[in-house]
Amino acid sequence: MQKVLVNEKGMAWITCNQCKHTSVVDLNGFCEGINVIDHKCSKCEAVSEVTCEFRKSYRKEVSLQGTFIRQQPGEELAGRIEVTDLSRVGIKFRTRVTYDFKPGCILKLTFTLDDRNKTQVNQMTKVKWVEGRMVGGEFVNQDQWSQKQLGFYFMS
Ligand SMILES: [Zn+2]
Repeated sequence: MQKVLVNEKGMAWITCNQCKHTSVVDLNGFCEGINVIDHKCSKCEAVSEVTCEFRKSYRKEVSLQGTFIRQQPGEELAGRIEVTDLSRVGIKFRTRVTYDFKPGCILKLTFTLDDRNKTQVNQMTKVKWVEGRMVGGEFVNQDQWSQKQLGFYFMS
């Protein structure tokens, strides 16, 4: 099976087994890690299975303002955050005061990207670690729209 590397922009070059035509494929929206896709050649329309391996998650140091709302467990809790580090799959942020977040708790984060459109992203996030006011989390239940916005953000 053909194996290709996906670059940090979510693009991969795939060569057709049949006609050797190479085309660039947009894999934004796929998961990090390894994905097997059915690639249809844009020239001869032959379909082949291709293993796509994503590079290590691309990250950006940022300074973005936002808010969190704790969804579970317990009572609803909300506050302001500053996002300091962002990737397509996760986030690091600082809270204004120390909260007693436990790893595994789910926060709804809303933050504004510093792109031209000042895109607002709403993203469910699972807390992975807490160090004082710093919190690291991974995105869960990411909708296609948010995936796309973050994809564009990392392309710019
Ligand atoms: Zn082909």
